[in-house]
Amino acid sequence: MTNIVVLVKQVPDTYSERKLSGADNTLDRESADAVLDEINEKAVEEALKIKEAGEGEVTVVSVGPDRATDAIRKALSMGADKAIHVSDEALHGSDAIATAKVLAAAISKVEGFDLVITGNEASDGRGGAVPAIIAELLGLPQLTHVNELTVDGTSIKADRYTEDGVTHLEANLPAVVSVGEKINEPRYPSFKGIMAAKKKPVETLTVADLGVDAGEVGLGNAWSSVLEASPKPPRTAGERVEDEGDGGSKVAAYLVAQKLI
Ligand SMILES: Cc1cc2nc3c(=O)[nH]c(=O)nc-3n(C[C@H](O)[C@H](O)[C@H](O)COP(=O)(O)OP(=O)(O)OC[C@H]3O[C@@H](n4cnc5c(N)ncnc54)[C@H](O)[C@@H]3O)c2cc1C
Repeated sequence: MTNIVVLVKQVPDTYSERKLSGADNTLDRESADAVLDEINEKAVEEALKIKEAGEGEVTVVSVGPDRATDAIRKALSMGADKAIHVSDEALHGSDAIATAKVLAAAISKVEGFDLVITGNEASDGRGGAVPAIIAELLGLPQLTHVNELTVDGTSIKADRYTEDGVTHLEANLPAVVSVGEKINEPRYPSFKGIMAAKKKPVETLTVADLGVDAGEVGLGNAWSSVLEASPKPPRTAGERVEDEGDGGSKVAAYLVAQKLI
């Protein structure tokens, strides 16, 4: 029996125009469609594969505003069994450390968990730090940026592919694993799965329910803040090089001027 926790985050759809709110430079969640982060669909898929290979239970944990329930329901409709949703006004603008503290407290609510699966980074914050902070807070080994995963009784094996080669990782459970984009192709929720998800239990908790002090979370307590942001300038027209037998040297001169070679 593998008792798996998957961390899922609702993020603005990367196809929408994403903006910061003028008031406090936090994410303007209302201006974009919100979706379950694609990398988290892969984290859920990996958990379901482990569950389906033997006995197991998959609990989804998310920290986010009320509408993050939609992302949670999607994970449940893919086949996860139950969920914990931490939703609290005090969390607005939390940094990666505060978010990880709350997530670690929520994970600890799942009795006897063996494995925590996360995405390697979220497509909005892109900190890529939450999995490592959680592993530190829970005192667990971390296997990050994983491309292949095998659970073998009480231990876990993982491979991470990089441009320089393959890293083989191994740890005893419980452990924290963050998955990379190439790990799998997530399933689509079936109609039956969508109907079943409506009845699956979702426990909604506040930070106080988790024993976390509201003074440790939120924008006012973040260790870093976004002071200023400006939109990316529109793309300018490229430079056209006419080849009159000297095209190669013109391109080389351009690259030298740009300090690219
Ligand atoms: C517009 C904007 C403004 C921000 N402003 C600030 C700021 O002023 N100061 C500051 O310190 N930080 C700021 N942040 C960072 C923000 O708070 C982080 O997004 C958040 O703390 C988590 O970090 P991450 O998204 O980079 O997660 P990552 O570490 O990239 O996420 C990796 C994985 O961890 C899990 N995970 C991460 N977050 C959650 C979650 N909430 N629920 C469930 N699972 C999760 C998921 O599995 C995810 O795939 C800002 C972010 C944005 C987008």
